[in-house]
Amino acid sequence: MAELLCYYFSMQNFEKKLDELKLNSCFRSIKDIDYKEEKFIIVNGKKMLNLSSNDYLNISTNKDLKLEFIDRYKNNPEFLFSSASARLLTGTSCVYNKLEQKFANLFKKDSALIFNTGYQCNQGIISALLQKNDCIFSDKLNHASIVSGLKLSLAQHFRYKHNDYENLEKLLKEKRNEFNNAIIISESVFSMDGDIADIKKLVELKKKYNCLLMIDEAHAFGVFGENLCGVSEEENLLSEVDIITITLGKALASSGAICVANKIIIDYLINKASSFIFSTAIAPVNVMWSNFLFDEKYKFLKSQKEKLNDLFNKVHLRYPTISSSQIIPMILNDAKLTSSKAQELQNNGFYVLPINPPTVPQGTSRLRISLTADIKYEEICNIFG
Ligand code: PLP
Repeated sequence: MAELLCYYFSMQNFEKKLDELKLNSCFRSIKDIDYKEEKFIIVNGKKMLNLSSNDYLNISTNKDLKLEFIDRYKNNPEFLFSSASARLLTGTSCVYNKLEQKFANLFKKDSALIFNTGYQCNQGIISALLQKNDCIFSDKLNHASIVSGLKLSLAQHFRYKHNDYENLEKLLKEKRNEFNNAIIISESVFSMDGDIADIKKLVELKKKYNCLLMIDEAHAFGVFGENLCGVSEEENLLSEVDIITITLGKALASSGAICVANKIIIDYLINKASSFIFSTAIAPVNVMWSNFLFDEKYKFLKSQKEKLNDLFNKVHLRYPTISSSQIIPMILNDAKLTSSKAQELQNNGFYVLPINPPTVPQGTSRLRISLTADIKYEEICNIFG
């Protein structure tokens, strides 16, 4: 009997934690979304302007593009909905190599590697590259996938205050010498605040303290840079950043993610990154879709980027925040207030969602308004008062 009690497991602990989340307006559940149509979203039969999407260039619901792609490629032997294998086995083909080569060239690097998601990409890189006796300096507001990489890695990590490079340098001065390899990691456009890291300063610090520099361009790819590569390109610093990660599931409206770096790093990841090695590759059809958009619709993507840049510049003038991008935070601090404001906006035809802890720090609940290229300024300006 004593032994049985010892192994007794209680669901009540989970229930209690869920009740706490509900009480604090922080309980998450999957929404009842019917479907999406151009820049709109239809939820429970109600059509609203979608202000909660990462489809920044409005590609994902573009019917003409979809039909042209299907028409052109449906008879291609690689038009398949499953790779049915990990990349190192049979889950690869010329379409994957083509996409990697294209992105290596675009980012002016030797090599590129496709991962299945941005999450797996960041987590896999950090946990594989940084070992015991190494260290990681990571911005405090970096995405959960980076934090997960820090936790999985055997290296020690230090989290510097958000975009505070004095704090980063202080940590580098104090700690860098105690370790072998070191890496500094930052997002370029931060996903919840829309503010932008000073990549020039990060390059200066990585050189001074002999570190690698990794930049996650998830929210900047497609939105910044002449060739859509992100903030590192816009700042003319592509060659100075050692590792760049992008996800294809946001502005490109596709699936997967890509890491670009030198050949040694990419070969190392192919051999050591668990999330790459032990996972079925994304479907060839998704890789072909990414190739199609970048080969044949590049001009269109660039024109969408210009429209989006115009839109967010106008919104910044009307509603100045810490954001310098398409992501506009409306920080209301209190979770309940944020949820009721989101509901009010939805009642008025704007699909805006509340963002609560732990996605953002305690006491900084907010509405995250995400602008996309086809939205007209006149459609949304009243939201900003
Ligand atoms: N990096 C950042 C900054 C993100 O916001 C996200 C978001 O989803 C990811 C990585 C993960 O990318 P994915 O959605 O492709 O897993």
